[in-house]
Amino acid sequence: MTNPHDRPPAEAVMPPMMDAVATLLRGVGEDPARDGLERTPERVAKALRFLTSGYDQSLETILNGAIFNVGHDEMVLVRDIDLFSLCEHHMLPFIGRAHIGYIPDRKVVGLSKLARVVEMFARRLQVQERLTRQIAEAVQEVLQPHGVGVVIEASHMCMIMRGVQKPNSWTVTSSMVGVFQDNLNTRQEFLNLIRHKVMF
Ligand code: ZN
Repeated sequence: MTNPHDRPPAEAVMPPMMDAVATLLRGVGEDPARDGLERTPERVAKALRFLTSGYDQSLETILNGAIFNVGHDEMVLVRDIDLFSLCEHHMLPFIGRAHIGYIPDRKVVGLSKLARVVEMFARRLQVQERLTRQIAEAVQEVLQPHGVGVVIEASHMCMIMRGVQKPNSWTVTSSMVGVFQDNLNTRQEFLNLIRHKVMF
């Protein structure tokens, strides 16, 4: 979905979503009518709407009024932004951390707002590579810095719980724009600053 504003309102889709969850429950061999599962379709549908609430948000509303002019052009770095998303292939969680660095060209944004940008894109169905690129492009678009680098380290439940079942596997993706792509020293400085032992 490219336009974040075109998803149907919850009231319109809750009943069919709940029916679909009841179908899934029957499909896994359960009885949706038994005690413990009675409210499960409603809970699952609500949880899914929440976990994808990034579709209701836009950069404009998140960053409204939070961009400032500054004189300096040193690298700004925010490390270890917690990240919770759902992979679009299995609708299972992937969980990790994002690191964002940029070199401002006068404009900077409040640090907490970068976390909100991560959250907005993470609360949509994603693949890690696209999530990484979207965050970098968003920072580039709103601040027009000399460059931006984004690195995401994440563990995918679809790999850990099924498939290859590698409990310690994690995936690293990066997106480099401007001087982070063109200048080896800048990129190296960024990667050194975010380096740390292990994720979990
Ligand atoms: Zn997956």
